[in-house]
Amino acid sequence: MAAWRCEFQSSVDELAFLRHHLATTKGQLRVTLVICSLVYLGFNITDFIWLGYSSQTALLAGVRLAVALIAMGGILMLRRRPDSIATARLVASMAELAAGCGFLLITALRSQEYALHAISMAIIIIVFYIYVPNRLLYSASLAALSTLGFILLAAGMGKLRPVELGTIATMLTLTNLFGYVAAQRYQLLLRHEYTAQTVLKNLSIRDPLTGCYNRRYLHQQLLETEITRAQRYQLSLTVIMCDLDHFKLVNDRYGHHGGDAVLQHFACLMHALTRDGVDSVVRYGGEEFLLILPETDLAGGELLAERLRLALSAQPIAYGDQQISATASFGVASIDFSRRSTSAHMNMITAADDMLYAAKNSGRDRVCCRQLG
Ligand code: GH3
Ligand code: MG
Ligand code: MG
Repeated sequence: MAAWRCEFQSSVDELAFLRHHLATTKGQLRVTLVICSLVYLGFNITDFIWLGYSSQTALLAGVRLAVALIAMGGILMLRRRPDSIATARLVASMAELAAGCGFLLITALRSQEYALHAISMAIIIIVFYIYVPNRLLYSASLAALSTLGFILLAAGMGKLRPVELGTIATMLTLTNLFGYVAAQRYQLLLRHEYTAQTVLKNLSIRDPLTGCYNRRYLHQQLLETEITRAQRYQLSLTVIMCDLDHFKLVNDRYGHHGGDAVLQHFACLMHALTRDGVDSVVRYGGEEFLLILPETDLAGGELLAERLRLALSAQPIAYGDQQISATASFGVASIDFSRRSTSAHMNMITAADDMLYAAKNSGRDRVCCRQLG
């Protein structure tokens, strides 16, 4: 974790975290924008009540209205680009910039109440750090710049005694410091919680020996998701059932650990030869694996199964100072959802299993295929 930025060192992890959190981030941002707009507009009403109508209060009202309109515009932008992390950050930064600049203008227009403005500035700083869900670097920069602008404005106006100016500057610097520390703790906590969740999720959906998905995940989510997607977009879907040949003999000859090494080697091969983030490798049973290949036709599935078969049989697996030779048999079943609406997917795994047994019965170390539907 990058401590100062409070982000994951790896940009891939950070992006995954931001995606995971996007709906919450947007919800929080919307609430903050609505509250800030109401506060800015509310001050217009109190100004007219306390100060009455004048060209100054009209000007103040114009500035506050502009900030509220920018915040409302941000809410519309969030609605139009619901999946965009960049838009959420842009809206947050835009609102912070508008609120900061608007507040400095208001301060300049009512320069006689600097001590009171300092309290508002402190609240705005805390809102930037904690209540506007933005990248911490951006919030911190905008809070620090607004503070600097406020202090320079106060010094330029010359309405405060040096001791008052010094005290206000110190208080606001401390507010920035505490705001930053609070935001840092919150951001780190969110990321630690996400990491723990990811680890737990991986433990629940993956097989610990091979790192492949487990059968529970296959039946709970994976298979249905892929079939639904293939049906909706009328794509091909292929599954391959793989089973190591005479694996009992491997265990008998090299022991259970030797057998485990072969399982791990075979799983590595399957992960290496399939598409990352597209195909899925599932440990279906002891030495049986299922590959799910979206947007792949029968020929593509057969080609992959042949590649795997050759890769496994071509090179013995190093186990200590011994070499273990292994082969596997493969059953491939494929459906093309663009051809016709079919219910054959209900039996996809059974069909791949039938093909696997055909491969076993015709001598093992081979691939058998069937087109369904
Ligand atoms: P076939 O060619 O017909 O598939 O024969 P086979 O010996 O591979 O098939 P069988 O189903 O008879 O044996 C599978 C063996 O896989 C039996 C079981 O002890 C072993 N096995 C299952 N899970 C594991 C595991 O996690 N590690 C190890 N080392 N062996 C396992
Ligand atoms: Mg076997
Ligand atoms: Mg088996």
